[in-house]
Amino acid sequence: MSVVDPTALEVRFLKGTGPRRAALLAKMGIRTVGDLLLHLPTGYVDRSAITPLGEIRPETLVTASARVLRVDLRRIRGGRGDVIALLEDDSGRARAVWYNQPYLAKAIRPGSRILASGPVRMWRGLQLSNPEFEILDDDAAEGSGLVAGRIVPIYPLTAGISQKILRGLVDRALALVADAPGPDPLPADLVVRFGFMDRATAVRTVHFPAVVEDAERARRRLAFEEFFFYQLLLLRLRAVRREPGTGKALAGDASAIDRIRATLPFHLTGAQERACEAILQDLASDSAAMRLLQGDVGSGKTVVAALACAWTITAGAQACVMAPTEVLAMQHARSFARILDSAGVRSALLLGRTPVQERRRIAASIESGTCDLVIGTHALLEPDVRFRNLGLVVVDEQHRFGVEQRLRLREKGPRPHTLVLSATPIPRTLALALYGDLDLTTIDEVPPGRAKVRTMLVERGRWDDLLAFVSERLRNGQQAFFVYPLVKESEKIALRDATRAHAEIAAHAAMRGLRVGLLHGRTDAAERDHLMNAMRDGSLHALVATTVIEVGIDLPRATVMVVEHAERFGLSQLHQLRGRIGRAPGEVPYFFMISPEGESSHLARERLAVLVRESNGFRIAEEDLRLRGPGELLGTQQAGVPRLPVGDLAHDGAILREARAEAEAILRRDPTMRDPAADRLWAAVLRRHPEGTRLFGAA
Ligand code: ADP
Ligand code: MG
Repeated sequence: MSVVDPTALEVRFLKGTGPRRAALLAKMGIRTVGDLLLHLPTGYVDRSAITPLGEIRPETLVTASARVLRVDLRRIRGGRGDVIALLEDDSGRARAVWYNQPYLAKAIRPGSRILASGPVRMWRGLQLSNPEFEILDDDAAEGSGLVAGRIVPIYPLTAGISQKILRGLVDRALALVADAPGPDPLPADLVVRFGFMDRATAVRTVHFPAVVEDAERARRRLAFEEFFFYQLLLLRLRAVRREPGTGKALAGDASAIDRIRATLPFHLTGAQERACEAILQDLASDSAAMRLLQGDVGSGKTVVAALACAWTITAGAQACVMAPTEVLAMQHARSFARILDSAGVRSALLLGRTPVQERRRIAASIESGTCDLVIGTHALLEPDVRFRNLGLVVVDEQHRFGVEQRLRLREKGPRPHTLVLSATPIPRTLALALYGDLDLTTIDEVPPGRAKVRTMLVERGRWDDLLAFVSERLRNGQQAFFVYPLVKESEKIALRDATRAHAEIAAHAAMRGLRVGLLHGRTDAAERDHLMNAMRDGSLHALVATTVIEVGIDLPRATVMVVEHAERFGLSQLHQLRGRIGRAPGEVPYFFMISPEGESSHLARERLAVLVRESNGFRIAEEDLRLRGPGELLGTQQAGVPRLPVGDLAHDGAILREARAEAEAILRRDPTMRDPAADRLWAAVLRRHPEGTRLFGAA
């Protein structure tokens, strides 16, 4: 008998996979038998119950077996499109429609046979809406035991790998594991308490269930397991960081903080008070704090961060604030100065473009300790910036670090406390999954008296009216943004769209005599500064921009925003954009989304309607997560999105919370997992998250 763990076996050694197939599988993230077993079906087709097309009824779930008569691709602007197939069997005809998956037009060929399973909707006749489907080969595999008369899995595919191939491979992988099942990685008491099926059964059932409900039960157990081990990793990381003596206890001057607060033109909101309290407590403790402060745009994170800096500085240490762009760094320098100047804080601004002489002078003052606060961009990370006594690092917006990056910061020597500010509210589930090793504070309240942004969907046909409305505002000294989405497939298209729109808007009769600028991804730094300054001093009336308008930009006179192709943005992203306007007291700000057209766009319009009725960023993010999933919500460039093949962060929130609670209970009993009983668990963590070995040293 082999002692080798079969899940570690590379798929290229499975019968039926050569190097070519192995490469295709690798494209889908499948390298080992274990990966293959966790490549879960997106759905199932019930081959035991085929409904003749002549008998399908609206609002039911059916499986049809039919011939494809024709396939049409209905293009929608921006490279997207719906695929419509006309299906026929002996009893009748119906259409099947797949929304926004234009590539399916190539996969589904007229004349082929198809098995399609999905809901029936009434829309100009009966149609199957986004069905799971499988193209049947000529030999149709009718006789094969894997498919005949059963519930059959439908997998996500890649070109060159068919359902049939994948099913065969999964079947072989299951046989391997059945021969050497190994111990269940979850603690036995936990399996019993939750009534989970054992792991081997779960893995088999999730692929080949006897009834579809079993598959979901199996998947939930696998999702739990996945969350549980990842939370163990994060929580142990947190426990290690929190060990006393890892940071400097800063004894700030509470009365100095009170004096600064007395100079503010407003009272802190309750949420800001709570955030301050938590952060000052962090700073006063001798374990290096790492806290994420999240709050909606305009919730007032800056003043909280500034007070944390003040505490640090009055304790005799230094603070630094890192912003993602120069424009934001400069803006921060202004707002921090406004809050802290009265307290005699000595600050400096350090940017990539800072002249060498000045940079040297600043670096010297940081090293000698005559500079208390440095604000800047990544330039702060250069080796010539050496602090005499760095107590606090504030990282603003966008900078999202993965677990590994966070740890690298930690390794930089005497550890400062770290405060990460994020203006992208993320739902609690996602926060736990991504930042489970951080302490989390949420400012869930916006300062009183802020005008609510009027949000509207506008038909394209009303463009002239819209421009007339906007231009009147501009003539009254207000400003507007026209925003165009970045097109993923092609920056060129985005550029062309924005450039053409700019020409159109600037030349429109309603806009006569008004100055309109153009800002896009290729605008160079000097021109960009020039444009932003022109917006700030009012010499530009409007700006046509791709989504490069930076998060956090503060232009009080901007009270109108018009977003074209709004359906191409995520709701959270639109909410962020909306936060750019309406910072001026007195004027009602307007946010217009040009409404998408066409039959398939009713879903998009429904989605956009969320923004019309909802102004709370967290609730919008929840909705975005539910509708588009975490990848889209966070953006693909996101560092540190963990690979969770089974768990669905959009829908498995409850499972994640349970898994987290169980992991917490284990670490409460045994904070460093030194207990021999924890060995097996920790080994399971490291099998799934090999980076853990690097993070903690060999276990
Ligand atoms: P964000 O959380 O988006 O970074 P800011 O810190 O930039 O928000 O604050 C937005 C605006 O609200 C600033 O002009 C700030 O001075 C103001 N502000 C902050 N806190 C309060 C408060 N408690 N009451 C009134 N205005 C506030
Ligand atoms: Mg801000």
